[in-house]
Amino acid sequence: MFEISKGAKRVIEKLTHAGYEAYAVGGAIRDIIMGRSASDFDVTTSATPEQMKVVFSSDRVIETGIQHGTLTVLFDGECVETTTYRVDGEYSDNRHPESVEFTTNIENDLSRRDFTMNALAYNPIADTLLDIFGGKADIENGIIRAIGEPKRRFYEDALRILRALRFSSVLGFEIEEKTKQAMLESAHLLKNISKERIATELNKLICGKDAKRVIMENYELLGYIIPEIAQMHGFDQCTPWHIYDILTHTAIVVDNVPPTIELRLMALLHDIGKVHTFVVDEKGIGHFPSHNGVSAERAREFFNEYKYDNATKERVCKIISLHDTYISEDRVYIKKRLNRMGAEAFFQLLQLQRADNLAHNPEKVNLKHFDVVEKIANQIIEEQACFSLKDLAINGRDLIKIGFKPGKEIGIILDMLLNEVIEEKIENEKTALLKRASAELGG
Ligand code: ATP
Ligand code: MG
Repeated sequence: MFEISKGAKRVIEKLTHAGYEAYAVGGAIRDIIMGRSASDFDVTTSATPEQMKVVFSSDRVIETGIQHGTLTVLFDGECVETTTYRVDGEYSDNRHPESVEFTTNIENDLSRRDFTMNALAYNPIADTLLDIFGGKADIENGIIRAIGEPKRRFYEDALRILRALRFSSVLGFEIEEKTKQAMLESAHLLKNISKERIATELNKLICGKDAKRVIMENYELLGYIIPEIAQMHGFDQCTPWHIYDILTHTAIVVDNVPPTIELRLMALLHDIGKVHTFVVDEKGIGHFPSHNGVSAERAREFFNEYKYDNATKERVCKIISLHDTYISEDRVYIKKRLNRMGAEAFFQLLQLQRADNLAHNPEKVNLKHFDVVEKIANQIIEEQACFSLKDLAINGRDLIKIGFKPGKEIGIILDMLLNEVIEEKIENEKTALLKRASAELGG
């Protein structure tokens, strides 16, 4: 007996009552078998969209995917995507079937799905699990296996290549050999897939618990998205600072930052400029002059090509360009950085630097420095010490009240006062600041 959601159960009961077949399918069933909590239940049914509309005529429904046979049924705030059994027509663009045909046979519907683990169908009324491709055993053994002829399936829809990598990373599964082989042979078709969809899969992949392994094992495939990833493989840095090639180093950094999209992207891309900037000096030591800047530039190109949002792009590029900047263990210096970057970005930089350091030659690892910097920064935040204009005890209006003219000068004076407060030359206190400001009046 599987615990399926109330909404999915009601959808299935209603369809069954009306004389149709209905099953919960896909990711939710896979997750339940794995003992993971499942959300987003999908239902597949023999009822056509028109028949579904009759069955759910007194319920709230959204018809967004109706031409593909999908009706979203809402119960108690839960959305249950309910789709008519279908088979996909021919694929000519490696992404979209030219037609979608409905069928009354669930086996046809399960056959069009991507992997065996995603093709299990469960009926809660009869308590039966339909498992025609051995998906349950594959889940139990942690295996991702394409349904049918792998090459044909990736030719039909090349996004499945990245779905496989993403599932491998998120679920910690291995990809079966024939499937893996077919992925590599079909990788050139990724060029036909929408950039946004690729980015969505990549983001999930790098946030998965097995991101390090998946990046290291699939550098060739990932090279179709970010060419440097393939070039980083086996790239000896020729320096005592590193014992790993750039790829291994990068994968370890990814593993060592918390799994948020921004931090993981920073880690993944922080050194992509290295393959473009490598030089060896007369002693045989490798250097990567200006690789920060080059990495940030290449990251920017990547974000533009893959249509990332501006906030992510700007934040990640900024931190990459700073990733080798030494943060001195000095309260005033740290306050100035906090002011310039904002606290969130500052702590992201620190997390990236810590992870980067950890992925160096173990003899060169020095985490104490990061502990010290972090402690000082936390102290500044806890004390609510002033490091930005919004924390300053006076503002432009206060300056106007004591006789400053509205305009550029106000900004200059406020910046000067902030700087003196940050440098602890003056207290962040209204009377003192006004007194200091008036000394500049008419001067
Ligand atoms: P997630 O945990 O990300 O939701 P999921 O397996 O539920 O994983 P969805 O994208 O929600 O993935 O898709 C639901 C189901 O639809 C999948 O389990 C699979 O059976 C099928 N499916 C989704 N995308 C594809 C695809 N590109 N090719 C074939 N079948 C697919
Ligand atoms: Mg899903």
